[in-house]
Amino acid sequence: MIKDKIKQISEEIKQISKKDICLMEVCGTHTMSIARHGIRSLLPSNIRIISGPGCPVCVTPSGEIETAINLAKDDRFIIATFGDMLKVPGKSASLQDYKNVKIIYNPLESLKLAEDNPLKQVVLLGIGFETTSPLIASTIKTAHKMSINNFSVFCMHKTVPSAINLIIDSDKDRNISGLILPGHVSAITGRRYFDFIKDKKISGVICGFEALEIMQTIYILIRTFELNETIVINNYKTVVSEEGNLTAKKAVFDVFDMCDSEWRGIGLIKDSGLKIKAKYKEYDAVIKFGLKVVSLPDPAGCRCGDILMAKAIPNECKYFGKECTPSNPIGPCMVSSEGTCAAFYKY
Ligand code: SF4
Repeated sequence: MIKDKIKQISEEIKQISKKDICLMEVCGTHTMSIARHGIRSLLPSNIRIISGPGCPVCVTPSGEIETAINLAKDDRFIIATFGDMLKVPGKSASLQDYKNVKIIYNPLESLKLAEDNPLKQVVLLGIGFETTSPLIASTIKTAHKMSINNFSVFCMHKTVPSAINLIIDSDKDRNISGLILPGHVSAITGRRYFDFIKDKKISGVICGFEALEIMQTIYILIRTFELNETIVINNYKTVVSEEGNLTAKKAVFDVFDMCDSEWRGIGLIKDSGLKIKAKYKEYDAVIKFGLKVVSLPDPAGCRCGDILMAKAIPNECKYFGKECTPSNPIGPCMVSSEGTCAAFYKY
């Protein structure tokens, strides 16, 4: 039944799509979903779908990864992290090489680690976009309430809008005309958060992760483009509201300030990251331990930066599928379960 609907939408897209068009998705889960469901093969050749900087692990710069690895080398610390950071290669090692690195599934588990290990300093690696920053914010607030003082966060959070702006503004040859907007991020931020896209004369549609939802979204974007209209709408209404999750947004507002942030392969983007507010500075690992985060070059020849900027696709990298595979990754785009190189390799 669903397959029939998808096929029908595929036919309708073929009928209405007359002009060449490039659509970009900006969510790692969409990257995987589009690859897994073979969405590209259901579309006519004039429709190109590219991936943007939607994988949080992939956009974390080498200098931050190296700083986390240096912490893991020090026995005074326990590093709490989501599992997808483990294999990201640093200069000579990765986090998985150190026994004091612990995988967590919920940031609150890092507080339990701190309570169970009072002689150690537990550092939680705060990575991710608007989806995960509320969880980290509420963990910091809980630590503050419980007066847990052997806990802190190495904050590497990024926010989506400035990166989208940069990619669209620097788009000289891809002519991106529509965005498949991230469902998870929008569940927190709400639809209104993405209204800025309209000013760029580009449409955006917030989308779920099933094949049918993605095909419907592509249909909407194509139809709008053919009619020369610009819209920013929500096609994931079961999860996303106009204003988003107000409780989560308040937690982020309470704990974090906006800051400029370095993105892997892209460089410093103004107002694209989060830093811990002075009120919670005792939970900021950078301040607490005087961490020096330096910019480091990406692995030689790795084109993750171009891929994250939607300037290249993975098989344009000379290492793809040869020297670089998921079991032997050179760059983070091949490590992360949401990385574009990993998606291309797997599907
Ligand atoms: Fe980097 Fe590997 Fe992707 Fe090439 S294939 S861009 S080396 S992660």
